[in-house]
Amino acid sequence: MKLKTKIQLFTGIFMLILTLIINTAIYMLFYKVSADGDLKSLADQTERLVIAMKAQPDVISNELFRSFAPAEGMIRVVDQNGTIFISAQQLAQYDIPLKFSSNESQAIVKQGSEPDVAVISKPIIWGVGERAGEVVTLQVSTQLTHLNSTMRTLFTVLLMATIFMLVPIIIGGNVLSRFLLNPIKSLIQTMRENMQEANWKKIDVQNRSKDELYEMEKTFNAMIDHLKDNYEKQETFVSDASHELKTPISIVKSYAQLLKRRGTENQQLVQESVEAIDSEADRMGKLVEQMLALAKNKHSAAKERVNIDDLLEETVTTFQKAYTREIIYKKDASDDVVLTGNKDQLEQVFYILIDNALKYSEGKVEVCLAREHKQLLIKIRDYGLGIPEEEQARIFDRFYRVDKARSRDTGGTGLGLSIAAAIVKEHQGEITVQSKVGEGAAFIVTFPIA
Ligand code: ADP
Repeated sequence: MKLKTKIQLFTGIFMLILTLIINTAIYMLFYKVSADGDLKSLADQTERLVIAMKAQPDVISNELFRSFAPAEGMIRVVDQNGTIFISAQQLAQYDIPLKFSSNESQAIVKQGSEPDVAVISKPIIWGVGERAGEVVTLQVSTQLTHLNSTMRTLFTVLLMATIFMLVPIIIGGNVLSRFLLNPIKSLIQTMRENMQEANWKKIDVQNRSKDELYEMEKTFNAMIDHLKDNYEKQETFVSDASHELKTPISIVKSYAQLLKRRGTENQQLVQESVEAIDSEADRMGKLVEQMLALAKNKHSAAKERVNIDDLLEETVTTFQKAYTREIIYKKDASDDVVLTGNKDQLEQVFYILIDNALKYSEGKVEVCLAREHKQLLIKIRDYGLGIPEEEQARIFDRFYRVDKARSRDTGGTGLGLSIAAAIVKEHQGEITVQSKVGEGAAFIVTFPIA
């Protein structure tokens, strides 16, 4: 069932039930008030008859009762044996039971399809004849014909009102469903268009009231922005990656062709080509490895407690053994320097930063570990070329290199810092650079400690 039909059905049935309850309550209340009024006037009439009987007992006769009987009612008297000994009636079209009762009572007796009957029963002491002094029951009753026709009119009026009420209820349900469904329909339409045409269409939220549907549309627009951003980043990544791979491939290809043409005659060319192909293969291998590392860092790796002091010391020692360069490690913290994180990933960050410091400088490299407030601070400093201020914000972008030719000579891919930044972010840390051209660069990594 469509949502629109559901809303219309629900509001329609709900309002109909509500109207029926209200109308029934009005009907019953009106009947009760009117019937009580009729009973009260019948009781007054009975009282007047009793007073007349008491005042002049000798006038008690069928005529007296007939003259006191209501227009559509009757007056009857029953003795203790249940024998009706007086019965006077006008146009009474009904028959109701009469029993002796020592209590006064008022009642409305239902008559099926005929008008109801109001009945007053009152015990009195009979004043004349052989029954003088005997307690008897006087019953005065009347058919409520007038009330019956009033109730019928009221029923017709209420029924008509209910039918007329249905019209605004149906219109209201229609307006409500349209109000709710229009934004949903436009959302579905926009989603379809986005899927079919692969564009990034958003919903126009101007001049809309600030309700939950507005929030939904705004969230949808934000999601489109986010998807577009990610899509564009991915596209740039793929085109940058293929561009980066193109150069080593074309170098390998041209050396291979050279070898094919002249390789057999020239031993020196063979040597040179094999070396170039080998180094380009290494470069491609490194590129692919780093791209994989970038993709892998998107998923959080298993975390453990890592002693950063031990880890830095190990990494520095590895570099000291591999290079004949001065690499100094200094720890300025006496406290605990343990971090919760992934050891391999953290090691990769330090590896990238120390490797860069060695690549882009010729002098010494300093690695320093300190603890400040609730932060661990790792600084890797070199005294090399430095990085121009306007380039500093971009060096963390994928494939970005300040000096492309130089970076290529040093075997750089432009991916190292973006991998380091992704890992640090994954560990809730931050990476910044301080540098002046000609004075070297300092990369500072901070991690929060619990
Ligand atoms: P690459 O593989 O080219 O080194 P990175 O992402 O590690 O890629 O670094 C990006 C660029 O930032 C480098 O190409 C280089 O120009 C610059 N850079 C990084 N570290 C240093 C440093 N210590 N000193 C000077 N320049 C640096």
